[in-house]
Amino acid sequence: MTNPSLDEIRIENLEVYAHHGVYPEETAAGQNFYINAVLHVNTMEAGWTDDLTKSVHYGEVCHFMSSYMKNHTFKLIEAVTEHLAQEVLLAFPLIERIALEVRKPHAPIGLPFESVSVKVIRGWHTAYIAFGSSMGDRQEYIDGAIEAMRKEQKVRVEKVSDIIRTAPYGDAAKEEFLNGALKIKTLFMPMELLSYLHSLEQAAGRTREIRWGDRTLDLDIIFYDDWIVATEELTIPHRDMENRDFVLAPLAQIEPYLIHPVRHITVNELLHKLTKEKTIFSS
Ligand code: ATP
Ligand code: CA
Ligand code: CA
Repeated sequence: MTNPSLDEIRIENLEVYAHHGVYPEETAAGQNFYINAVLHVNTMEAGWTDDLTKSVHYGEVCHFMSSYMKNHTFKLIEAVTEHLAQEVLLAFPLIERIALEVRKPHAPIGLPFESVSVKVIRGWHTAYIAFGSSMGDRQEYIDGAIEAMRKEQKVRVEKVSDIIRTAPYGDAAKEEFLNGALKIKTLFMPMELLSYLHSLEQAAGRTREIRWGDRTLDLDIIFYDDWIVATEELTIPHRDMENRDFVLAPLAQIEPYLIHPVRHITVNELLHKLTKEKTIFSS
């Protein structure tokens, strides 16, 4: 969700008769729900060409949301909203972000009231992944992971760097590495993305005996939008990326002017800085 200035297509109070609710009467009889949706789409090209294929057909979005609401049953409006937001993002690729509100004016709370609603904002995030392999059929492990990502509906692979050959990093690894970087769009939140990447490493037979040891496949999150994450399991931006030319060089190839959200300098500048430091130390 890096582009805050996207245009908006607004759908207001779409009425849908559906069967969501905690009580059996609600799921049996059903009631009216009202949907407000703000679709964040770049509408400029459609605006200048007057061509619908360059934009999102809001009529189709309305029909899609209506039939999804009718064909599924959830207890909570939180669940309806969460699922519906994701389904809309998956079904309409031009929608980068959706603010979705589901309102339930006839919720049976036993008191006079106007309505209750849940509103969420969901969208595609941009992440940069560094990959590396130093064991077995290295190219095959890397290709396999990228292929799996292309098949995962919550991931869109946007750019793949060239693969470079590098000497092992640290003392534990002994073999030559193949390294590179990817730009993806994803609906996964950072921790979900980490688990997903771990599942791809596992599929490649990755084991973790020694830190920085040789491995079939390593997938690290370098950036996630301009977010800063600092938990025990996850640090974003990746904490050691500025010291690694095998991360910076592929990244600079696919996104040289991307700004590190903590260092406030570009990937290109980070790479030049590192190269300079290395020359000073080795001279
Ligand atoms: P390094 O993280 O220094 O590159 P490594 O990749 O060899 O070393 P792993 O054994 O693959 O280390 O990962 C150890 C743990 O690092 C992971 O289980 C994960 O919880 C944590 N981690 C923290 N930040 C990140 C990140 N940005 N990307 C991937 N893993 C991370
Ligand atoms: Ca790593
Ligand atoms: Ca790792």
